[in-house]
Amino acid sequence: MTTPISLLIHGASGRMGQSLLGLLHERPSLQLVAATSRQPEALLLHEGEALAPSQLFAAPAFDLMIDFSLPEAFDGALAAALTRKAGFVSGTTGLSDEQRSALESASVHIPVLWSANFSLGVAVLADLVERAARALPGWDLDIVESHHIHKKDAPSGTAILLGEAAQRGGAEPHYASLRAGDIVGEHWLQFAGQGERVELAHRATRREIFARGALAVGEWLARQPAGGYTMRDWVASHSFAGA
Ligand code: NAD
Repeated sequence: MTTPISLLIHGASGRMGQSLLGLLHERPSLQLVAATSRQPEALLLHEGEALAPSQLFAAPAFDLMIDFSLPEAFDGALAAALTRKAGFVSGTTGLSDEQRSALESASVHIPVLWSANFSLGVAVLADLVERAARALPGWDLDIVESHHIHKKDAPSGTAILLGEAAQRGGAEPHYASLRAGDIVGEHWLQFAGQGERVELAHRATRREIFARGALAVGEWLARQPAGGYTMRDWVASHSFAGA
C-alpha cells in the first residue's frame, strides 16, 4: 500500500477540472482535500473542500496541486503550491515568458511539470519519434495532423511537440494540417527512405485522455524531489511498463 497523496485541483469547475474530478476514482492513492473554483458552491465533491480562489492559501495541507485554469489564475496557484512545498502539475496554456520563468524558479524548491499535452500516448509517441529519427538519418519525415473544423491554430501544438522530438533525433519534419468535422485529434508521421517507409500514429477519441494523463503524471511527480520535469521524464521513468 503506497502512502496517500493529498491533492488540490485548481480550476475545478472548468472542462478539464470536471474531467479530473470524474476520473479521480481511477487513482485511489490520490485523495482530494480541496478543489478551487470561481463558483465553489456549484462544485459537487465526494470528498474535500470546495474553495473560492481567494481561499487558496487557507486550503488544508496538500502534497500536489493540479492546475488547469487560465493564465490570470496561474500565478496564485503556483505561489500557493510553493508556500505548501507541494508538487505542481499544470496544463494551463497561454502562459507569458514571466510565468515560464516563475515555473523554472519554483522548480528549485518543488517538483513542477508543465505540458501542453498530457496524453500518455502522445508522450510515448514523442519518445518513439525521437528514436526513429535518430536511427533513420537522411529519411524524409512528414507530420500530418487532423482536427475538428473549429481548431484555429495549425500545425497543432502536438504536431509541433512531435516535430521537436524528431529534431532532437536529427530529422527535419514537414507539416500538413487537415480541419474536418469533429475529429478530436489525429497525428500521423511518415519516415520515408529509399524503397521503404515507417509510419507512426496517435488517434485521440476522447478528450478525457488529458485529465487521465495529468492524474497519472501527478501521482508520479508528487514522489519526486524538487526539479523541473517534462513528459519525457515521465516516459523515461516508466520505460513502457505502464502508468
Ligand atoms: P475552462 O474555461 O473550461 O475552465 C477554466 C477554469 O479556470 C475554470 O474552473 C475557472 O473557474 C478557472 N478560472 C478562470 N479564471 C480564474 C481566476 N481568475 N482565478 C481562479 N480560477 C479561475 O477551460 P478548460 O477547457 O478546462 O482548460 C483549462 C486550461 O487547460 C486552458 O488553459 C486550456 O488551454 C488547457 N488545456 C490543456 C490541456 C493539456 O493537455 N495540457 C488539455 C486541455 C486544456
